[in-house]
Amino acid sequence: MRVAIVSVGDELLAGETTNTNAAWLGARLADRGVTTERVITVPDRVADIARVVNEFRAEYDAVLVTGGLGPTHDDLTMDGVAAAFGRDLEASEEAVTWLDEHGGYAAADLAEGTADLPTGARVLHNTAGVAPGCVVESVYVLPGVPEEMEAMFETVAEEFSGEPRYVESVVTTEPESSLLDRFDEVQETFGVKLGSYPGENVRIRVESTDEADVECAVEWLRERVDLADS
Ligand code: ATP
Ligand code: MG
Repeated sequence: MRVAIVSVGDELLAGETTNTNAAWLGARLADRGVTTERVITVPDRVADIARVVNEFRAEYDAVLVTGGLGPTHDDLTMDGVAAAFGRDLEASEEAVTWLDEHGGYAAADLAEGTADLPTGARVLHNTAGVAPGCVVESVYVLPGVPEEMEAMFETVAEEFSGEPRYVESVVTTEPESSLLDRFDEVQETFGVKLGSYPGENVRIRVESTDEADVECAVEWLRERVDLADS
């Protein structure tokens, strides 16, 4: 399964908030064997949200959108998703009832627009906050508050699956430029996907759908590179 993540929020683009949601989702999806092919951050603007949602839902098996739920003036995600599908927004009776029965919010106390969802959407209840999320076809709309987003994702996690991937790393003190021949050889020999991430040392990341291939490749590398102290 291949997916895309859309993060919504001016504060993310301005660097005021670090996009931990995309990182968390990417890791959680990878755990489930799902490949995240795109992460994009867009401003709180209906047309921008609608455009990327439409582009990505045509391209990927699912799209996860986070942030910008709720009733305040800059919460435009539901408008953007509704626009992408050519649907209207309407108050979800199911969401209002759930908030009354489980969330501790009587309908009369909810700010106008809190439970507005695109017509026909499946409601995702917010066990850690107020504003509900939803699913429209392959598009999953989740809150921005990390705790709320994580709890809501877990309620649909089972809908995301793929072939498990195995990843291990080898850390070396050698510079990347001196490792190129060994990179080629280990990839050819074991058919693994290799990543190389320089920092103080170089972290060589080995990935495959075959666990034994990863283990053999890692062993091969350990015997042939100068290992950093671990
Ligand atoms: P609520 O359901 O409470 O209305 P929301 O879906 O409207 O939340 P936002 O208004 O976009 O979410 O953001 C709420 C808070 O979550 C802000 O403090 C924001 O900085 C933080 N937040 C939003 N998106 C992200 C993200 N991608 N990574 C980390 N934090 C985020
Ligand atoms: Mg909000």
